[in-house]
Amino acid sequence: PSKSMPEMLQEVTAMYPQNTALSFYGRKMIYAELQKAVYGFAASLQKNGVQKGGRVAIMLPNCPQYVIAYYGTLAAGAIVTQVNPMLVEREIEYIMNDSGAETLIVFDALYPRVKGVQSKTKLSNIIVVSLQQSNADFSPDKTFDGFLHEGKGQFTPVNIEPEQEIAVLQYTGGTTGRSKGAMLTHYNVLANVVQSYEFFKERTKIGGEKFLTVIPLFHVFGMTACMNFAIYTANESILLPRFDLEEVLNTIKNEQPSVFPGVPTMYVAITNHPRAEEYGIDSIETCNSGSAPMPVELLRDFEQKTGAKILEGYGLSEASPVTHCNPPFSERKPGSVGIGFPSTDYKVVDLATGTEEVPNGELGEVIIKGPQIMRGYWNMPEETAVTLRDGWLYTGDIARMDDDGFLYIVDRKKDLIIASGYNIYPRDIEEVLYEHPAVQEAVVIGVPDAYRGETVKAFIVLKAGKSSSEKDIISYCKQNLAAYKIPSAVEFRQELPKTNVGKILRRALRDEVRSH
Ligand code: ATP
Repeated sequence: PSKSMPEMLQEVTAMYPQNTALSFYGRKMIYAELQKAVYGFAASLQKNGVQKGGRVAIMLPNCPQYVIAYYGTLAAGAIVTQVNPMLVEREIEYIMNDSGAETLIVFDALYPRVKGVQSKTKLSNIIVVSLQQSNADFSPDKTFDGFLHEGKGQFTPVNIEPEQEIAVLQYTGGTTGRSKGAMLTHYNVLANVVQSYEFFKERTKIGGEKFLTVIPLFHVFGMTACMNFAIYTANESILLPRFDLEEVLNTIKNEQPSVFPGVPTMYVAITNHPRAEEYGIDSIETCNSGSAPMPVELLRDFEQKTGAKILEGYGLSEASPVTHCNPPFSERKPGSVGIGFPSTDYKVVDLATGTEEVPNGELGEVIIKGPQIMRGYWNMPEETAVTLRDGWLYTGDIARMDDDGFLYIVDRKKDLIIASGYNIYPRDIEEVLYEHPAVQEAVVIGVPDAYRGETVKAFIVLKAGKSSSEKDIISYCKQNLAAYKIPSAVEFRQELPKTNVGKILRRALRDEVRSH
């Protein structure tokens, strides 16, 4: 694509001004209105001195203001800095200082948290979106609605070089360590949308489709697979600010969306709903699952109960994010993340050297090349040099490829457990645990062991009304796994620590074990 993101929105609006763009609790906004608000926002940023390349942080749940702020920032030539609203003061301070953001769009409930760190950052312009009605003693610096009119709609168009200019600083989830800002150019972000369209072309309509947008837009998967893809195809995004099971099910029933990108924990929750089949979930044509592994047993359960089809894909912040997906019409392979997206090269290489390709079926690190691969990490040249080598993105994910080019993600290099010299891949064990009839969610980690170096510990959430014991789980594993993989301890929990997109946080469990 040779366009910038705001040019893309402009073209779509010119062709389909009356199509519904956004829907939020019954309020609809058509493309013509969205575009007007976007330029209004961009004009106000300009009036406030935001220039090309300036960083504008957005810290909002899914809501129309998010989309307006995102495209308004891009139209002004500035860089969207994505901030997860779950972050606490210390983390907010880190991202503000790392990105150097001077402007922040935040929602009312988080305003005090942001104010608490403002003096330690460069933030000079805080704009507050009112999502809760009952803030009696609340007087923000600026309201979003007021801000929209500050520039009086007098927007001065900015020339943007799509391949040169950064559109988004996508801070990685920090599942494995310190959060890094992946620099995604306009070209990267739009390329991934065009690739998605090419991949799903035979089943994607221009206009008339509804996307159930409940994965957060501040996460790269929501940004591309929901918001940007829906806009590129002139479709409607039904925005939900949080995953509330009843609300999601009722939205499916009432609105009959045709696309529902989600993460495995969302599909698990739906599968375990006692009356899931009553909500017409089979009206959804595609459930794109990504961001974490979709255990095979769960995929089957979900499809059997709901009649809807899951297409599992794979990606990462550094790739805008999608690089692989199971095909919509030809054979899908459960347990695999599918084949490469159009114009995406990928190889599985030796874990130690990172250069030689390993034969099909053998494990190695996945490396990827394509138009969606980031420019590098913001302010982190050393990390960039390790991750981007000769144009290849080193993903840190261990995988194997089959003879048809389907990729199977096994685990992250950092999650590998080494016990008595054996490499243990947590996913092998988790797949078995998910087959146990009482298990709803399971995760395993390596815990320090004086004799073996590390041993396996499992954390399990049981299905409602089911019971089990450590002994039962261990004996089940003994029937299904080689001896060295069997967990030496099992702990039952009411819930597992998760990131905001529902990714199970192994790091938090490892930290807990270490601090005891
Ligand atoms: P950090 O990189 O800072 O640890 P993060 O993991 O949350 O944070 P993301 O870019 O959001 O960063 O996640 C990308 C990772 O998610 C991939 O590298 C991969 O490990 C995992 N992942 C994504 N999709 C899948 C999938 N379908 N199956 C297995 N793992 C997946």
